[in-house]
Amino acid sequence: MKKAITFMNLTAAPGQKVQGMTPVYDVCRLPVTVINGVREGETLLITAGIHGGEYPCIEAATQLAKEIDPEKIKGQVIIINCVNMAGFYDRVSYITPLDGKNLNRLFPGDENGTAGDKIAYFLTENYQKRADYYLDLHGGDIHEKLPPYVYRPGVGENGDALDKAYGMAKYINAKFMVKSKSTTGAYNSRAILGIPSLLIERGCQGVWTGQQVEDYKADVYNVMKYLGIMDGRPVLPAVPAVEMTNVIYLDSDVTGMWHPLADIEEKISKGQKIGYITDIFGNVTKEYFAQYDATVLYIATSLAIAEGTAIITYGN
Ligand SMILES: [Zn+2]
Repeated sequence: MKKAITFMNLTAAPGQKVQGMTPVYDVCRLPVTVINGVREGETLLITAGIHGGEYPCIEAATQLAKEIDPEKIKGQVIIINCVNMAGFYDRVSYITPLDGKNLNRLFPGDENGTAGDKIAYFLTENYQKRADYYLDLHGGDIHEKLPPYVYRPGVGENGDALDKAYGMAKYINAKFMVKSKSTTGAYNSRAILGIPSLLIERGCQGVWTGQQVEDYKADVYNVMKYLGIMDGRPVLPAVPAVEMTNVIYLDSDVTGMWHPLADIEEKISKGQKIGYITDIFGNVTKEYFAQYDATVLYIATSLAIAEGTAIITYGN
């Protein structure tokens, strides 16, 4: 007989869905959905809104949490509808206003750190460590432009988990698939500890559409079918994602005014000028050139750019 499951203050009996706010120490409260399927099985964790300005993923997570029927689930699905609630309601990009840090650079977190460190630690200990699979839903932020793509982890000792994540990634209907070398993102942190995890990027620039949300939900349902958490046959995208392993993430060397010279999905060639920065009087202070033939994955679209922040990403 399947048992009730408890995640912090929320307990769901078999076949039951429970939603509520879960306190993170004295820092904030998280909107959590606990879905306990009727059949024994594995646990899928879904988080959205680690960056509060990435709207399609937050709306998709909210709709998924409403739609998923525990009677049709094998195992458990835990959804954190929006992790960075303060950033969401304050409409800020990247950071949590609670301490000014980028939450996705703080995993696995620190119980004795600032607010963001504590949130990351809380998520790691109480949710990620109990999950068999993990999907972290993102998008381009308010000042960012990108096509849909999926990051699969490339760093971790458990080769089986990396292979399984690769298998999951193939079912995401994205234009590009990037093998990540990062270690500090929420999903990288889990992958390093042996849990198949993905990060999905869909939508950008502070807007969201019904179509993006539908596409996002289709991705998640497809992965749930692939994992056997939901009945039905997963469907591979009609056009497979272009896989990239050699990706350059360029950060600004100076604070100033950013002028990208290439758009997303544009092919660039080695040596091509791809953008420049001026001071507030319009004098060029820095120019950027492509290091190899590649396709542009991401550009910052804000004229204002701070030193050390992302301006363009390209890869092949
Ligand atoms: Zn993000």
